[in-house]
Amino acid sequence: MKAVCLDIDDTLLDSQSAARSSLKELLGTDRAWPVWQRTTDRYYARFVSGQLPFDVMCVERTRAFFAAFGENIDHAEARRREERRMAAMQRAWCLFDDVAASLDWMCASGLRLAAVTNAPGDYQRTKLAAVGLADTFDAVVISGEIGVAKPDPRIFHTACDHLGLQPHEVAHVGDRLTTDAQGATRAGLRGIWLNRDQVPAPRDSADDRVPTITGLAELPELLVTEIAAPHFADLVGQAR
Ligand SMILES: [Mg+2]
Repeated sequence: MKAVCLDIDDTLLDSQSAARSSLKELLGTDRAWPVWQRTTDRYYARFVSGQLPFDVMCVERTRAFFAAFGENIDHAEARRREERRMAAMQRAWCLFDDVAASLDWMCASGLRLAAVTNAPGDYQRTKLAAVGLADTFDAVVISGEIGVAKPDPRIFHTACDHLGLQPHEVAHVGDRLTTDAQGATRAGLRGIWLNRDQVPAPRDSADDRVPTITGLAELPELLVTEIAAPHFADLVGQAR
């Protein structure tokens, strides 16, 4: 193993907490958080698939969220509320507690680092700078800049190309089982699922089983044998 790719949102940044506190600032309560999450899942998928530009998606999501409670607001009002919410969210952006130590360990171990994320380019680069990670990565690969999104193998292969490495030499860590861990595994990388909330994994075929960690502090133990013996997995495969 020579490099590690990391997802950004809910892997490095506690984006969910930031979004939740932004909703609280907008409404005075976060009781509607489950509705916000469901609305986000629906609308973010439309952004990732290219159906909606990011800023349009954000405004339409806010409008749909209020409509779910019977309040029908026009586009201009939805944009005003979304701007307030977005500003509150950006003030709340912060890293998880385990990020600094794990990044330090990976750098000290000689691993190269990449960020691989599904979002608009400017938005993610602003986010990385806001939390002090603007110069941390050897490569930053963003779906909004290259036109393909995780779990498409091409985004993972783009990261490997930027790192000058083959997929089997690279791990990818992310909080989404299918988008991150299984997508990376299918692209030939070492996909690792960061299951911070310890949600039960769905029953999958054996091919889709991936190593799982519940925090980035567990990453060194998982990677250390692979750094020492980078072709171990290949040798095991040949012996079968
Ligand atoms: Mg994520």
